[in-house]
Amino acid sequence: MKNKLLQFMVILVGLLIGFSLYNPLVKASAVNNYIASHKISHVSITKKIWGGFPHYKYRHGKSKPEGVVVHETGNSRSDIFDEIAYMKKNYRNAFVHSFVDDDHIINIANTKYLCWGVGYPGNARFVQFEQVEMHSKKNFAEEVENAAYYTAYLLKTYKLKPNDACYDGKGTVWSHGAVAKYLGGSDHTDPTGYYKKCGKKYFHQSYTMKQFYHLVLTNYHNL
Ligand SMILES: [Zn+2]
Repeated sequence: MKNKLLQFMVILVGLLIGFSLYNPLVKASAVNNYIASHKISHVSITKKIWGGFPHYKYRHGKSKPEGVVVHETGNSRSDIFDEIAYMKKNYRNAFVHSFVDDDHIINIANTKYLCWGVGYPGNARFVQFEQVEMHSKKNFAEEVENAAYYTAYLLKTYKLKPNDACYDGKGTVWSHGAVAKYLGGSDHTDPTGYYKKCGKKYFHQSYTMKQFYHLVLTNYHNL
């Protein structure tokens, strides 16, 4: 009887390992594959620094961020220029360093100083950027590639090692959701829902921060 149970457990564990190895969600990302096979490449960074943002140092000092936070605006009707204009008007409540869409990476606040995108204590630690919502398969893929390139670029610029912080709360690549979960400061979950929605809609597979992190690594190694 005991042997049978042991046999059953061994088979079950084997099946689980086999499934996780061949599960496409773990193995391959349809979005990342599409980016690679269509040779989608990032745009270059546009600097449009606005003088109105305050200049406060990170907790370890000027030019000492500890990682990058990826956001998504949660607004399906706005474009990148609407979002930037809105942020300049409302910076006292919140602002981020940069905005990304399918065709732009626009840096509006000096990344040597902190911004106000995730609350305390994350604001004093991270460079932060927003992704604007896209409405087609190609545009979503282009935006994600721009976001991954920009994340890799920031890591390289500030001599930070790539390290996915989204599953353990430790590292250099964060979602707003991971900051909220592990450090507090807000109850936001972006960009997880947006990635999931666009992945399912355009690629029949959720896009995840883990898959995004792999795209960051690809970009980092190409820098
Ligand atoms: Zn956010």
